[in-house]
Amino acid sequence: MLKTFFSLLVCLAAFSLVCFALFLFYSENRKLFSIASLNRETNPEESAGPTGRPGKSLDPCADVPPNLQGVLQVEFRTNRTLQDVRNHVGPFLQQGGRYRPTSCRAKQKVAVIIPFRNRYEHLTHWLYYLHPVLMRQQLDYGVYVINQDGDGVFNRAKLMNIGFVEALKEYDYDCFVFSDVDLVPIDDRNLYRCSDHPRHLSVAVDKFNFILPYATIFGGVSALSEQQFLKVNGFSNTFWGWGGEDDDMSQRISYRRMFISRPDSVTGRYKMIKHKRDSHNDPNPRRIQKLRETYSNMDKDGLNSLNYTVREIRKDLLYTFVTVDVQADVDPDVSVSEFNQSKSQFKTSRTKNVSNLVSPAIHNSKAL
Ligand code: UDP
Ligand code: MN
Repeated sequence: MLKTFFSLLVCLAAFSLVCFALFLFYSENRKLFSIASLNRETNPEESAGPTGRPGKSLDPCADVPPNLQGVLQVEFRTNRTLQDVRNHVGPFLQQGGRYRPTSCRAKQKVAVIIPFRNRYEHLTHWLYYLHPVLMRQQLDYGVYVINQDGDGVFNRAKLMNIGFVEALKEYDYDCFVFSDVDLVPIDDRNLYRCSDHPRHLSVAVDKFNFILPYATIFGGVSALSEQQFLKVNGFSNTFWGWGGEDDDMSQRISYRRMFISRPDSVTGRYKMIKHKRDSHNDPNPRRIQKLRETYSNMDKDGLNSLNYTVREIRKDLLYTFVTVDVQADVDPDVSVSEFNQSKSQFKTSRTKNVSNLVSPAIHNSKAL
């Protein structure tokens, strides 16, 4: 009798030991699982992608994003297509090239603005490299490609002003990163965020042997908060053709008693895609003289005098593509015969598009 009772007790003890072991195993696994899923969420490469808006209850993202890789391998000599890029990063994006982290509340809402015309190959590389970087940087961001319609003289700065206005119509962005389409960072610690002062990000470009060409440079990639951009009245709208508009912005910043902030020359490294000078974007012969007039012009030439027409807004998974008429002049470099030719085409096509009659952009008629 005593023997049976004793063996029952042993059985019971063994059973509870097994139960205890099972309990331990289960709870440990759960902990492991939840850590794994947290890691997955903070790593956009593995994340299930953003669905819906993040709850107000999410903790703010860390000051230093936890999944940065540092130096990156960047290669442009490939036959990359937009569809490759969509396959690569598409699952993490929302239409219009929008993303926000799902595991924390982003520190800033960033609109990335790209002035653009006819650089599709560059855009493909840019999207391929930048989307994963911006995701790892845990930004709540959107990519806006501002495409100048027609083939009048190019106006980079005006396109960037338009990007600022159009992006704000869509979302409550607080930071604006203006990026050339051919500049790709080769270090993801270079955060595409705004800081206390306007920030110049492309400080060490391979084209310039990775050194800052001059102290006040502000071209390439730069970041301004909404307040900073408003304080300088945005960019000038009157720099037609290549050059000057970035130095004009640099002067606006100093006239408004702000400084240029920069990453260090290791973090701020960039690769520029090699290209020839585009047509209808020759160096602006007036740029030196115009830079003497920044101080007197900046209050009347900028966001408060911006004039343009949106021709189309197209949402791709990878970007928002805004095609705009910037009321460009005919390219003065166009030869007389080419000019006369487009004028006659203009005459024959005027019935197709009445708006051309009031537009000085006779060049646009070539596209009809
Ligand atoms: N750009 C463009 N199409 C053009 C001219 C310029 O898309 O026909 C845009 C593009 O984003 C480019 C930027 O304007 O990166 C600056 O022009 P560019 O690359 O010629 O200047 P640079 O190489 O001298 O900095
Ligand atoms: Mn370039």
